[in-house]
Amino acid sequence: MKIDDFPNEIAPFLIPEPKGDLVYECLGCSGIYPIKKLLYVCPDCGSVLLITNRKFDELKKTDGATWQKIFDYRRMLNIPALKGIYRYHELIGPNIPIASVIYLGEGHTPVVEANQQLQQKAGARFYYKNDGQNPSASFKDRGMASALSYIKYLIDSKLAENIIAVCASTGDTSAAAALYASYLALEITSAVLLPQGKVTPQQLSQPLGSGARVFEIPGVFDDCMKVVEKLSENYSVALLNSKNSWRILGQESFSYEIAQDFEYDMKDKVVVVPIGNAGNISAVMNGFLKFHMLGIINHLPKIIGVQSEHADPVYQYYLEPDSDKRVFRPVSVKPSVAQAAMIGNPVSMPRVVSITKKYNETAGQQSVFFVQVTEQEIMDWGLLANRNGHIACTQGGECLAGLVGAVREGIITDSECAILDATAHAIKFSGFQDKYYTKTLSDEYRVVSKQELINTPILMMPDNPEKIPAQGKPLGEEDFRVFVDDICRKIARELELSDSK
Ligand SMILES: *Cc1c(COP(=O)(O)O)cnc(C)c1O
Ligand SMILES: [Zn+2]
Repeated sequence: MKIDDFPNEIAPFLIPEPKGDLVYECLGCSGIYPIKKLLYVCPDCGSVLLITNRKFDELKKTDGATWQKIFDYRRMLNIPALKGIYRYHELIGPNIPIASVIYLGEGHTPVVEANQQLQQKAGARFYYKNDGQNPSASFKDRGMASALSYIKYLIDSKLAENIIAVCASTGDTSAAAALYASYLALEITSAVLLPQGKVTPQQLSQPLGSGARVFEIPGVFDDCMKVVEKLSENYSVALLNSKNSWRILGQESFSYEIAQDFEYDMKDKVVVVPIGNAGNISAVMNGFLKFHMLGIINHLPKIIGVQSEHADPVYQYYLEPDSDKRVFRPVSVKPSVAQAAMIGNPVSMPRVVSITKKYNETAGQQSVFFVQVTEQEIMDWGLLANRNGHIACTQGGECLAGLVGAVREGIITDSECAILDATAHAIKFSGFQDKYYTKTLSDEYRVVSKQELINTPILMMPDNPEKIPAQGKPLGEEDFRVFVDDICRKIARELELSDSK
């Protein structure tokens, strides 16, 4: 729809002008720093930062119902920069002119209700939000669209040039970073550091295909992260890990979309996310908090963060009920099929601690929960989900396992309905499925393949294995007829087909 065709009272709000007063805010010393420079950590105390809008209260001049209308009408506007996460421009990057916004098709991923059988098995009503349907097939594109739009804005404003963007990754951050950087190939060079053998072949092919410099490092993600941090301390590089608070801003869009897709009614809703570096859960909580502060939603949904018992530092931290006695201890990770979340020392831990506290206080009761699941549960629930029409990656399986665990623990009641983050597309992690089916997952995962979930291809050979067609060597007419009849009969027997006559 064209801007002139919108109602007069809403049209002036639809195409946003740069506004607001964004600053980095340190979670350690509360220091405030201007955003004219790319900062990852506090220059004074080294803690992680969040970006806040010092003019946020000005947004309150518009009431919640009007904001809902703005976002709903903006949905109909055909301006590419506002088709992705910047539909929520005022909350994501109010200072970014829409001319600097990079849009590659991210965001607004489908919310798909589970069928009756699967909901019954899980013991709760639920939907998957398919973030694997983002351009690089994971939710990381949300944060990257934000971070790269900000960098483009710096370049356009002559505040930066010749950017070398780097990140460490469990696979999906690097795919997203390389993709978005390659769109700005003239202005940005990207380099990614991956733990050798700890990303899937698909994830490795992604940054290579986007033309990034790819470095494989011995060890696990936490080791890679240390190297990247050292790089960013000693050299002039733009760090694209979720330590970069612009990533968090972009990932808040996940919550805005859920709110909008459920008509802004968050009563009795539960949002389930897997936790790795803990950037995503921080962003998801922050997003709902902001919508709540503006009266766009009246209820905060419950949040459930899920971790595998092979990489569960956040879960361990919250086991202690007394907040004064909690101590964060990094864990040494064991192999996990939820490999994208296999992180023992999450960089966003201070964000989780600070935002969880605020979230529970705002809700007036405990509304954030942490659940631990086994590798077996992750695989079994993920495979079962995909047998019922979903495209969940192993981390999406982890969410469903977490939902089931939360039901078991009484965290979720009958009246509630959950939205699970399928954080990446199933095909990125299909190697784990293959290994489950062929019973070749190494013992360290502690997963036993369940016969009823296994599915493998069946090679169909004719009675005479000499007479088979091959590339460039077709069978003679009669041999080919025999071959087709033979295979046809065998498939019909396998499928127990009945005669059509
Ligand atoms: C990065 C990632 C996670 C973990 O998200 P964090 O923000 O690191 O907690 C989970 N699933 C997938 C598919 C990911 O790529
Ligand atoms: Zn500080």
